[in-house]
Amino acid sequence: MQITPSERSLAIKDNVVDFMNKHIYPMNKHYNEIEASDRRNDPEALAFIEELRAKAKGLGLWNLFFPHLRDDEPGTGLSNLEFAPICEEMAKIPWASQVFNCNAPVTGNMELLAAAANEEQRQKWLRPLLEGECQSSFVATEPEVASSDATNYQTTIVRDGNDYVVNGRKWFISWSMHPKTTFMIVMGKTNPDNPSRHKQHGVIIIPLDTPGVEILQDTTVMNAYHIGGHPEILLRNVRVPAENLLGEPGDGFAIMQSRMGPGRIHYGMRCVGLAEVALGLMISRAKERVAFGKHLHEHGSVANDIGRSRIEIEQARLLTMHTAQALDEKGPKGARKEVSMLKIVGTELLQKVSERALRVHGAMGVSNQTPLASLFTLGMHLSIADGPSEVHLPGIAKAELRDHDPADFLKYYDVPAR
Ligand SMILES: Cc1cc2nc3c(=O)[nH]c(=O)nc-3n(C[C@H](O)[C@H](O)[C@H](O)COP(=O)(O)OP(=O)(O)OC[C@H]3O[C@@H](n4cnc5c(N)ncnc54)[C@H](O)[C@@H]3O)c2cc1C
Repeated sequence: MQITPSERSLAIKDNVVDFMNKHIYPMNKHYNEIEASDRRNDPEALAFIEELRAKAKGLGLWNLFFPHLRDDEPGTGLSNLEFAPICEEMAKIPWASQVFNCNAPVTGNMELLAAAANEEQRQKWLRPLLEGECQSSFVATEPEVASSDATNYQTTIVRDGNDYVVNGRKWFISWSMHPKTTFMIVMGKTNPDNPSRHKQHGVIIIPLDTPGVEILQDTTVMNAYHIGGHPEILLRNVRVPAENLLGEPGDGFAIMQSRMGPGRIHYGMRCVGLAEVALGLMISRAKERVAFGKHLHEHGSVANDIGRSRIEIEQARLLTMHTAQALDEKGPKGARKEVSMLKIVGTELLQKVSERALRVHGAMGVSNQTPLASLFTLGMHLSIADGPSEVHLPGIAKAELRDHDPADFLKYYDVPAR
């Protein structure tokens, strides 16, 4: 396992840190105020982000997450291993990744289009995303069915002459209310009669302004609204040209796989960066606050929390690098187990470290005076988004069982097979 990032990666990381210090940290308070206000999806209120994006793009700090960049496309695509330490830095301000065109869910959509779009579709849908001209959303989850089992999706995509007609109801569709979002990548049933439940779905692109697309209501996440929203969307007789289908009818699962690896690995990278923020705040508070005649860090349980957090962050960072390398070498399908492990480890790390930090801050920790309450809830909702931990765990166990030969294992020990 290579755990030293490349020189190119370290140089770009320095530039990203410099950019964040100069342009992003100073705007954090402003961003949070806008997000908490009714202007959160107002293009005028968000104009400052577009200015920052133009600056970052001009410096080549753009599309860094994307290893499939062609020479004529903008930015500096890196391997996953090279991107890992940079993503960790960007994560220290949760909204910063969009300034570098490295934000979810668009990163996953770009990966998906790179894997599944034909040349014409690549020009029409991927290129504007790479250029930063628009944003997009990924549309899978449905309120009526348990969507952690993706074979449950009921939305229909039916061929009608040269078009497809889409009907269904979706929710938690992040970024759909962002003023720059122009299209959605939608999963639904194209082949309901296929005997394999994994060959019944297809993936189609729907421009947001197509008649029949209706945003019903935004949804809060742990009691807060987010920029871009996570709304519920009704698709009623939505008609789009047949050329908007990605791949073949029935290819939906295979196509979705291409967005799951890279999309999910970024969660791990981000959680490590955010856990560093939480630990930094915990230590600062423990060094300045005095209770029962001692600084907080002099109380054994607080010292233990600091030590335990450092161990867990380093463990998660190593798993991040290992997973990034596996993804580079084996692709999303081959690295599925590692990606699942990292999603669980990363999101649990963020919950644990931010909870400890929050407690060390006492009442202040649960207030809006620190980012800790937001970090704690972020860890919680990331552990549900893109597949809950409970669904990733059996997947990891399945891979273990598949790769394990009891005969091989038992021969080294004096354990009789029964
Ligand atoms: C902040 C946020 C943003 C999101 N953004 C998007 C988006 O942009 N696009 C999109 O399509 N979706 C999005 N989602 C939805 C997310 O992907 C789904 O919520 C997730 O896949 C789970 O589906 P569900 O909510 O229907 O839960 P269900 O499938 O109903 O599962 C509920 C619970 O049942 C338990 N469970 C399920 N299966 C198992 C199992 N095999 N073993 C043990 N326990 C199990 C788990 O505890 C799980 O949390 C987002 C969610 C959140 C929270």
